[in-house]
Amino acid sequence: MRILILGPQGSGKGTQAKRIAAVYDVPHVATGDILRGAIAEGSELGRRVEPILERGDLVPDDLMVDLIRERLADEHGFVLDGFPRTVPQAEALDAMLEEIGKPLDVVLLLEVSDDIALERLLERRAEEGRRDDAPDVIRNRLRLYHGLTEPVVARYHPMLHAVDGELTVGEVFAAVEEALGQVAVVRLQPEPGSSLDSDPERVTR
Ligand code: ADP
Repeated sequence: MRILILGPQGSGKGTQAKRIAAVYDVPHVATGDILRGAIAEGSELGRRVEPILERGDLVPDDLMVDLIRERLADEHGFVLDGFPRTVPQAEALDAMLEEIGKPLDVVLLLEVSDDIALERLLERRAEEGRRDDAPDVIRNRLRLYHGLTEPVVARYHPMLHAVDGELTVGEVFAAVEEALGQVAVVRLQPEPGSSLDSDPERVTR
């Protein structure tokens, strides 16, 4: 199953994506984690992106697209978290998946207000000490979300499953499972007269 999870900072994408990955046996591909890993390693990529993450700005599209192309190259399924964040990134992702004949199965959107997002990120800062969870940096990240990532949400509107991200973790996951279940049902019941889905991996993963 190829799942994209969208939502603002603090909406719980990472938490839900981890649960999805465990239950549906797909890798959790989180660009923020990949970038923080590169910074921790001190690689060339890490040195390049460190000041960008500290400011809460976005890493250039071409760099992110190359990174994702490489990361998804051999994956049949995934839950993608943190990418695409801009329309050019979304265009590149769609083209890349179309090229290999493996489009997204489902796009989830976790919805939360800016007030709740801010509150949660400040809590996380106290617990985890993420440097980009400082109030002025959070404001910049949310501003970029509204300006650059909401058009990505609009692009996927026809296939979007919106979930109320302000509920508890368990309630949100129940809604996520329901959305994913609907997709599986569609896959298991092809239209009368149409040939059966010839790719069994699409049903099971
Ligand atoms: P959040 O969603 O809370 O901002 P992430 O861990 O997903 O946290 O991302 C942290 C930072 O990594 C972002 O603020 C940004 O600087 C960078 N980043 C992650 N994904 C992308 C992307 N697709 N495009 C550009 N920058 C990205």
